Amino acid sequence: MSVDRSFSSHPVAPPIYTSSVYALTDLDMLERISSGAEAGFIYARDNHPNAALLGQELAKLENGQWSVVAASGMAAIVATVLAVVKGGDRIIASDQLYGRTTQFLGQELARLGITTTWCDTSNLQTVEAALKDAAQIVIVETISNPMLRLADIEKLAELCHRSNSLLLVDNTFATPTLVRPLDLGAGVVIESLTKLIGGHSDITLGVAVGKHEDLGKNVATRATIWGMPASPFDCWLAHRSLPTLALRVRTACENAAQLSDWLSQQKNVTRVIYPGRSDHPDFELAQRLIAGPPGNMITFELPGGRAAVNQFMKRCPGIPFCPSLGDTATTCSYPSGTSHRYVDAETKQRLGITDGMIRLSVGIESLADIQKHLASGLG
Ligand SMILES: *Cc1c(COP(=O)(O)O)cnc(C)c1O
Repeated sequence: MSVDRSFSSHPVAPPIYTSSVYALTDLDMLERISSGAEAGFIYARDNHPNAALLGQELAKLENGQWSVVAASGMAAIVATVLAVVKGGDRIIASDQLYGRTTQFLGQELARLGITTTWCDTSNLQTVEAALKDAAQIVIVETISNPMLRLADIEKLAELCHRSNSLLLVDNTFATPTLVRPLDLGAGVVIESLTKLIGGHSDITLGVAVGKHEDLGKNVATRATIWGMPASPFDCWLAHRSLPTLALRVRTACENAAQLSDWLSQQKNVTRVIYPGRSDHPDFELAQRLIAGPPGNMITFELPGGRAAVNQFMKRCPGIPFCPSLGDTATTCSYPSGTSHRYVDAETKQRLGITDGMIRLSVGIESLADIQKHLASGLG
């Protein structure tokens, strides 16, 4: 069962190793690999060559010391949090987190006796007040959905440092091309590779990257015990996406900046939310945090509520309605019915999410093509 290397040149593209297990020559090799004295793999749920290769590249991109590639963005979040907390502990979380992260904290961890204090993390005084009682982790997103609020990572990191709390930043909407949270003082950065980093809507994968090796080992152990291995093929595809990441993100962001202004001039659009526009509450923070246009996401509002959105989608097949983001193609989503489907009306109102809101994930097509599609959608 061995693969003969019958050629001496080496492949430029990395091979995909689908093997779920690796054969060892003897017990001494088992000891050397298990202790880390020798590079090697034993069982694919623990680690495999495609995850290791992808993880190394992502750690470089994020400027981190360790990385754990896991089955999804959620797996990366769950493994990291479970590595840090135990029953009776407390977490402070942004009240604008991704829906499933909110459910993980508010439902799953609550069942295990771990409490979460939700707060408006854009208000640093609120965070400081919440940190007066011990909290193991503070969780924020660099750019939130769908209001596109930005986290002041540097200031939050200072507060966390003083209180001995881990700052965990979900950087999915920004990617390391726009923001490197570890450089700004975060303890761990999470990316859903399913989105912009994968970039082609064909994988489900996530990564956690951090600075302190001890925590990295702990996160890797949680991921393997709780069963969150990354598929070799998905790792291979994500690895292939990395060389074009900056090109894709920059192009999409340039398009988004132009489109946000264009949309604001359309008569059927009542509101445009984009942190690169001066009417956004985080306009100045965006300029401080991000060089160039701050992201490829735009949220805009139609005056006629759900019916108007439905009509827009029917008239606009060129911009698929799909509840994800980060594809090379422009796509749209409906926060009120997808990401915030299970959020009660009162919370939606507090967050400012209305039934007429559409969230665009701007792609890398020509600006004229995207405008043409949007114009037919707007009627
Ligand atoms: C999609 C997403 C996640 C979860 O990622 P999956 O790969 O779908 O598990 C987490 N955070 C944010 C901000 C996301 O958009």
